[in-house]
Amino acid sequence: MPTSSHTVAVVGASLAGATTAVALREEGFAERIVLVGAERHLPYERPPLSKGYLLGSAARESVFVQPETWYAEHDVDLRLGVRAESLDLATRELVLDTGERLPFGQLVLATGASPRRLDVPGADQVDLQYLRTLDDSDRLRAALRPGVRVVIVGAGWIGLEVAAAARTAGADVVVLEQAAVPLGVLGPEVAGVFADLHREHGVDLRVGVGVAAVRPTGPAGGTAGILVLSDGSEVAGDLIVVGVGVIPNVELARGAGLAVDNGVAVDAALRTSRDDVLAVGDVANATHPLLGRRIRVEHWANALNQPRTAARTLLGRTDAYDRLPYFFTDQYDLGMEYSGHAAPGDYDQVVVRGDLAERAFIAFWLSGGRVVAAMNVNVWDVTEPLQRLIRSGRSVDPARLTDADVPLDDLVGTTPG
Ligand SMILES: Cc1cc2nc3c(=O)[nH]c(=O)nc-3n(C[C@H](O)[C@H](O)[C@H](O)COP(=O)(O)OP(=O)(O)OC[C@H]3O[C@@H](n4cnc5c(N)ncnc54)[C@H](O)[C@@H]3O)c2cc1C
Repeated sequence: MPTSSHTVAVVGASLAGATTAVALREEGFAERIVLVGAERHLPYERPPLSKGYLLGSAARESVFVQPETWYAEHDVDLRLGVRAESLDLATRELVLDTGERLPFGQLVLATGASPRRLDVPGADQVDLQYLRTLDDSDRLRAALRPGVRVVIVGAGWIGLEVAAAARTAGADVVVLEQAAVPLGVLGPEVAGVFADLHREHGVDLRVGVGVAAVRPTGPAGGTAGILVLSDGSEVAGDLIVVGVGVIPNVELARGAGLAVDNGVAVDAALRTSRDDVLAVGDVANATHPLLGRRIRVEHWANALNQPRTAARTLLGRTDAYDRLPYFFTDQYDLGMEYSGHAAPGDYDQVVVRGDLAERAFIAFWLSGGRVVAAMNVNVWDVTEPLQRLIRSGRSVDPARLTDADVPLDDLVGTTPG
């Protein structure tokens, strides 16, 4: 009979939480695993919620991390619809909203992130739509119909993916963005590709405008509303979708006194300020060996891959999570993958191989002559050489980067001149 000192409890039953259970079993952990998740659904993946699933082209079953039978077959005690309300590190117990105190030996926080709310006067008078959960996606999908006027606040990845899905469904779409370009993190040249893409598909993309207030057009609490913009103009929508970023769910960690700094602070082995508590996925702000600093990554691949390192750490094996950040998007007929990390200020040059106007290219972000990030748009099977190039940390001649005749594999190790 296993004791609580052998139990691994995982809070958050989404991609990172469920994959932690998978990785623990694959790494040979034979003791008790309890996976606690506030949502009622089986652990699922979120990328389809703004793409295939929202469009109706991906089946519901395809979003689940594992089939329902997997959890019983692998002796994982899955508690769905249960929220962990607090964490008592002195007794090593989770306090659940069922009233139960769940003892554990080691704990993994996979609590993810929640949408940042639109915080302007009147925001509580309209049923603003956010997109994080399967239920959100179902609600949105039912509302996206020809002729419906959808106003999207925020031209980030989620906002633009919803815009693409809404246009594909025949809705009229307005996208409002406070910054001068959508996806400003990419820099103006590459961001412009996405602006053109959406405008060509009939999206009314308005940049440089913030939302100052909201008011309902019908009875308060309905989905229809008017947005009052920072320039004094107004935009009405049957539906207002807000995609203005996410906030890591750190309440449990903070309440228990764990170090919190833009997420739960963890080392490269994904340990929090306590060795017996780890954090993975969107909530984890992890030391990255290659970057030499902490980074919190809000992407699918990170939630999928960090759990392997966490499982190994829990089992006392030495490991460090050093994969490069990677993510992807699909909008209309544009598919994109991005590797590396280039926040504004992290790079001093952007060069492009291929044709921006044709939307078939690879963009490279450089810092001091070294490639720190790369994006391939409608060019496939290049992630490996691109990541090798970034990881090499070597200087590369920009002229060779832009020359499509130079094989990507030959770029590693080339020096200017
Ligand atoms: C619509 C959408 C589209 C996306 N598309 C892409 C994409 O194309 N490419 C990409 O790379 N990434 C994409 N992402 C991001 C990706 O889905 C996330 O990085 C990933 O879901 C993170 O997984 P996670 O398990 O760390 O956290 P989450 O998915 O946020 O899951 C955390 C879970 O923990 C639960 N929880 C929180 N607190 C508690 C508690 N106290 N007790 C119990 N349960 C709790 C939550 O209810 C939630 O179910 C997308 C995200 C969204 C929302």
